[in-house]
Amino acid sequence: MPRRAAGAALPRAGHALLGGSGTDAGGSPTADPRVRRLGRVTPDTPFGQSPEMEHLLLTTESGEERPFLFIRLHALLQLRDRRQTVLSLFWALERAGVERIVAESGAGSITQHFHPRDLVVPHDFIDLTAQMGGHLSPGAVLVMREPFCPDIREVLFHRARRFAAEKATRVFNRAVFVAVEGPRYETAAEVAALARLGGDVIGQALAPEVYLAREIGACYAVVQMVLNYAEGVRPEWDFELLRAIVREGAEELGPVALDALEALPSERGCRCGSYRQLPHPAEAAVTDTA
Ligand SMILES: [Zn+2]
Repeated sequence: MPRRAAGAALPRAGHALLGGSGTDAGGSPTADPRVRRLGRVTPDTPFGQSPEMEHLLLTTESGEERPFLFIRLHALLQLRDRRQTVLSLFWALERAGVERIVAESGAGSITQHFHPRDLVVPHDFIDLTAQMGGHLSPGAVLVMREPFCPDIREVLFHRARRFAAEKATRVFNRAVFVAVEGPRYETAAEVAALARLGGDVIGQALAPEVYLAREIGACYAVVQMVLNYAEGVRPEWDFELLRAIVREGAEELGPVALDALEALPSERGCRCGSYRQLPHPAEAAVTDTA
């Protein structure tokens, strides 16, 4: 799909926060005294209208003003077409100048090692969703080395440790996330198979966002709270426990993600932006006229 001229109404922002369980449950950054609301935008894109983005300004401890875009992605994906939503969103994020994306979401444990209320900062993923064809730049080759930005992971882990100490829970800086389509949960046989494949936690968040971030040359990392055991991991788990964790604990994830956004150094020191390889000009010409 040809790219249209950038939407003139798009504000400039170097960072984005993708909200999941935490910001849905009341941990919205708009309630934080460090954050000021600048406006709301829903830009038109070649992929349709982007989901609503809040343009916010975070004032860091050192007095630096850090504009960012906040999107309640988890809630939106339950209402909108996923492909159209994420493609229009990442098109807009690129045009706004976003270079670093911090995300938060819930996850299920597929091994005996991770328990409800644990926090995890995944270092890798296995994508079992139907990967979308025709990304933002058809033909772009995405190298998935270090799929989660090591710099953002480090600040997320540091902040999550403080949270874990206060809440008497645990935090892990390595985990393999298995991305599935949903909306149904997995069978016990599927969960056992995925654990043998090397997965630790599972969920319906994260793909394709993690590789669209790479496509626009942005850093991306996520902090997740384990909300439940997947089927068959424990003899039984109940939905009441899941609801209680979402209600009482997950809303803390939003502030963890916001703190990480504040703690990031001003300059990127990682290599995330170098892992996108655009197609050879000759190939690009063929693609454009197809
Ligand atoms: Zn990075």
